[in-house]
Amino acid sequence: MSASTPQLNGLGTLYVVATPIGNLDDISARALRILAEVSLIAAEDTRHSTRLLQHFGIRTPLAACHEHNEREEGGRFITRLLAGDDVALISDAGTPLISDPGYHLVRQARAANVTVVPVPGACALIAGLSAAGLPSDRFVFEGFLPAKQAARCTRLTAVQHDPRTLIFYEAPHRLLDSVADMCDVFGADRPAVLARELTKTFETIKDLPLQQMHDWIAADVNQQRGECVLLIAGYQAPVEALEVSLEAQRVLMLLMAELPPKRAAALAAEITGVRKNALYQWALDNKPA
Ligand code: SAM
Repeated sequence: MSASTPQLNGLGTLYVVATPIGNLDDISARALRILAEVSLIAAEDTRHSTRLLQHFGIRTPLAACHEHNEREEGGRFITRLLAGDDVALISDAGTPLISDPGYHLVRQARAANVTVVPVPGACALIAGLSAAGLPSDRFVFEGFLPAKQAARCTRLTAVQHDPRTLIFYEAPHRLLDSVADMCDVFGADRPAVLARELTKTFETIKDLPLQQMHDWIAADVNQQRGECVLLIAGYQAPVEALEVSLEAQRVLMLLMAELPPKRAAALAAEITGVRKNALYQWALDNKPA
């Protein structure tokens, strides 16, 4: 059965369909139509999705497509697609592939020349960003942080100086530890937003500097429940660094390739007339890894 215009090559289409992240009204009319019309729905958790489909009176058969079987069982879905059947891919909530299964199936489908069509809708990171009030022109999605503290701090350090808004998914039981590590790595004053239980009854969007955010979460156990997105303002160069002109930066970079930061800053100060302290700070902030 075809959910839209049949493909000329006779193959079925793989639809990547976003489902709600809480409020069921967030499903799109197009998503409902496609879910009802395809031959098969590949779902992360068939029991979970059965409830969603029942709510909307959709009786399309479901088959499991989760992180443990996706790579091996993907062939089953590809066979159906090659036979001309349309398939929809859904995850438990939000957009498939976004910290959810589906990547391998989409890769396999594209490799088999199957048309892959996105059916966009809810996505927690985008919903959080849209309401956080942090710069949204450039952002980085870091997904889930590692559970172990050392690995988590390594990941945080890698984005410490990234000027773009940073977005993380976090499990509620790790929220406090992660925010504590963010305080250490990004600094206590870095602006942060906790977007919790988006589109649900207890939706909370709180903005505070990191240390205050940590204390606020620690003081209220309710903030350590449910689902959450953490959004952190990107790195802003200290005011001193802004005094360093582009020309001075260029000179300093050249000197830093040969000299330690302190010596490079001192020489660059003599050459460019820019303050030595400002140059030294810039050198430390921009030291090659
Ligand atoms: N595919 C989903 C999406 O498009 O956002 C994400 C799935 S991922 C397995 C689940 C994580 O997304 C949660 O741990 C949480 O970090 C975030 N999340 C999902 N629903 C949310 C909600 N209603 N409010 C806040 N965060 C949510």
